[in-house]
Amino acid sequence: MNYDKRKTIIAGNWKMNKLPSETYDYIKEVAAKVEGAKCEVVACVPFVNLANAIEAAKGTNVKIGAENLHFMPSGAFTGEVSAAMLKDIGVEYVIIGHSERRQYFAETDITVNKKVIAALEAGLKPIVCVGELLDEREQGITAEIVSIQTKIAFMGVDKSAFKNIVIAYEPVWAIGTGKTATSDQAEEVCKIIRDVLCDLYDEETAEGTTIQYGGSMNAGNAKELLGKYDVDGGLIGGASLKSEDFATIVKAAE
Ligand code: PEP
Repeated sequence: MNYDKRKTIIAGNWKMNKLPSETYDYIKEVAAKVEGAKCEVVACVPFVNLANAIEAAKGTNVKIGAENLHFMPSGAFTGEVSAAMLKDIGVEYVIIGHSERRQYFAETDITVNKKVIAALEAGLKPIVCVGELLDEREQGITAEIVSIQTKIAFMGVDKSAFKNIVIAYEPVWAIGTGKTATSDQAEEVCKIIRDVLCDLYDEETAEGTTIQYGGSMNAGNAKELLGKYDVDGGLIGGASLKSEDFATIVKAAE
């Protein structure tokens, strides 16, 4: 982490977990444990949990995010939720391009790009996920894969937008598997992403953008991963569902 240049952000991704009725108390529990944290703390929750999460987070240092959105502003898209709808209820962040969305819901680099643009236009802060499959790592093409994903995600995005953009490097083989990338592997790929931003924009943009690591980060391994210069926080799945573990990761970021 480089505190001088960029914000450290620890974001939870609840995925399809926790009921709306459990959400208010859980956010309060987390907020009590992370009060006064020096880093930004975010909880990304299912659509139907958002209202309760936002209510509970009022007056605390916990920010609330969604886990997805549709790229169209409105219209005949049954079952979908737009960026403007999320903004309207007080959502601040939104995860885009999570590997589970790419794997199970046919999201592509192009839809990720459309969603990034829609989120930014609505005033939401996208957390854009990139990362390689195990086969791709074994083939030695991790750098190419994350570079292409990053380049396509930000097509048509102006450098001035980067103050509101977060990138999460999430090797797919490490998500929900208990297999964490080593801190050196995480650092290496976060640096590759930063170099891509430098090529696309400039050094100031690259050095100023928060790049998180995500993939089985937990209370035990967070400190080492977050100790790396190019790793500016974490996107946390499983461990965000236990307030004690999540708070320990927040403390590790300090
Ligand atoms: C995630 O869902 O983004 C994630 C990193 O999950 P986990 O921490 O459970 O691997």
